Amino acid sequence: MPGYDYDMGIIGGGAAGLTVASGAAQLGARTLLIEKEKALGGDCLHYGCVPSKTLIRTAHVRHFMKNAAAYGLPKVDVPPVDYGEIRKRIQSVITTIQKHDSEARFCSLGARVEFGCPAFMDEHTVQLNGKTYSAKNWVIASGSSPAIPPVAGLEKVPYITNKEIFSLDRLPESMIILGAGPIATEMAQAFCRLGTRVSVVQRSGQILSKEDKDMADAVMEVLRAEGVTFYLNASVENTRDLGQEREVTIKDKAGQTTRLTAERVLVALGRSPNIDGLQLDRIDVAFDRKGVKVDERMRTTQKHIYGAGDVNGAYQFTHAAGYEGGIVVSNAVFHLPRKANYTFLPWCTYTDPELASIGMNEKRAKEGGIEYTVYTEAFEDNDRSLAEGEKVGKVKMLLDKDEKPLGVQILGPQAGELLSEWVAVLNGRVKLSTLAAAVHPYPTLGEINKRVAGTYLSPKIFSDRVRKGLKFFFHLKGRACG
Ligand SMILES: Cc1cc2nc3c(=O)[nH]c(=O)nc-3n(C[C@H](O)[C@H](O)[C@H](O)COP(=O)(O)OP(=O)(O)OC[C@H]3O[C@@H](n4cnc5c(N)ncnc54)[C@H](O)[C@@H]3O)c2cc1C
Repeated sequence: MPGYDYDMGIIGGGAAGLTVASGAAQLGARTLLIEKEKALGGDCLHYGCVPSKTLIRTAHVRHFMKNAAAYGLPKVDVPPVDYGEIRKRIQSVITTIQKHDSEARFCSLGARVEFGCPAFMDEHTVQLNGKTYSAKNWVIASGSSPAIPPVAGLEKVPYITNKEIFSLDRLPESMIILGAGPIATEMAQAFCRLGTRVSVVQRSGQILSKEDKDMADAVMEVLRAEGVTFYLNASVENTRDLGQEREVTIKDKAGQTTRLTAERVLVALGRSPNIDGLQLDRIDVAFDRKGVKVDERMRTTQKHIYGAGDVNGAYQFTHAAGYEGGIVVSNAVFHLPRKANYTFLPWCTYTDPELASIGMNEKRAKEGGIEYTVYTEAFEDNDRSLAEGEKVGKVKMLLDKDEKPLGVQILGPQAGELLSEWVAVLNGRVKLSTLAAAVHPYPTLGEINKRVAGTYLSPKIFSDRVRKGLKFFFHLKGRACG
């Protein structure tokens, strides 16, 4: 390898960067991984998926305790929450998982790990802690940070983001959440269940705006019933620090202003790519406010520099970052021209009920001008769901005009887990008749997947034509009642 210190240089030790580091190093590429923070793992481990799902679980348990009577148990008086204890639990889960993402582990795989903030000196070389490091290929995998839009007064308000929310000293008595995307919605329900008075302010008329309105509205109704207040079609006019409390003034569509006050303001208004300080303009790597621009092979405008994970602004999920990291390894190490295909990229919002999605929903099908038919199956018709005390939700399956699946959305208990069957069905191009005929254990939530496939097949099987054929060939005598 003449000229370069490394075959592969990686900037950022989160889901995307770690996937590339582990793949490249194990394949024999001389690999350098550079991380800005003191530990590897990225947002998902330290400030994202892991702490949020740990907190959600704790909130869920408290919710169960408060609702013990609904399960035939004696009513429980649930004492107030000590957030310090919850914080400890979150930290212990992070510490356990951190071992998988340790410097020692990546060193054992063959990758060298350096800590600090690199800056590109030329298109193959970065400067880091006063030294230079060159690599044949680079991957920018520096992730994203909470976007802070220019809201009047916000710079003087001690707001919090996902970076602070999991390590608060105490449970806030009240919280205003700006934004109603997945992070905002998950946190709204979790904090409400822990005992915080939560208000959500959303500019548009729907929460979880990428999802179909019927599904998102159903999530909102559950949260509303639990005590979350929603202000939809509301723009933030001004924010002020009142000392003990913060004030957020919002304006509705009719121009009416309302002043909200709370102990904490959580800003969850989208994400910005982490590209400051990398000096990308010096090396002609194109980017905009959404992120580093990449082609389907994850290549930036410099073909040997890749952009994977949140930093490219495409699909900001851990599994998308891992997938894109794999695409980089295929292209840069194997030299295979593999392209990313997001057709069946699944995701899930971990509210209760969860809202999981794969492929097209109605919104995206309409935007794409695609003809579709919807088939649904409700959780209130699933025996296990009723036994569990879960009645909210449904599965929505979209088929195209050739009756091929376009996508599936699940709103319901453990929707994220239930979606896995569809991940296999859609990626494996399994026929719906195979799914409908496959025996599922009873009583399971999973039967709902078989049932929705059956709703499409039933009218074909139990049709007049089939009945007439059977009557003709086998002399069936027809209805015995009514
Ligand atoms: C509250 C919350 C909950 C979430 N929940 C989920 C979920 O349930 N499921 C899911 O799939 N996704 C979830 N996400 C999204 C998920 O965390 C991200 O999509 C994922 O972390 C992206 O991985 P990444 O490798 O692109 O970036 P990151 O994991 O953020 O890693 C980027 C790394 O680069 C480092 N870095 C940044 N700048 C530099 C620099 N200049 N030099 C060197 N290193 C640098 C950072 O310190 C970081 O370690 C959640 C996010 C949040 C905020």
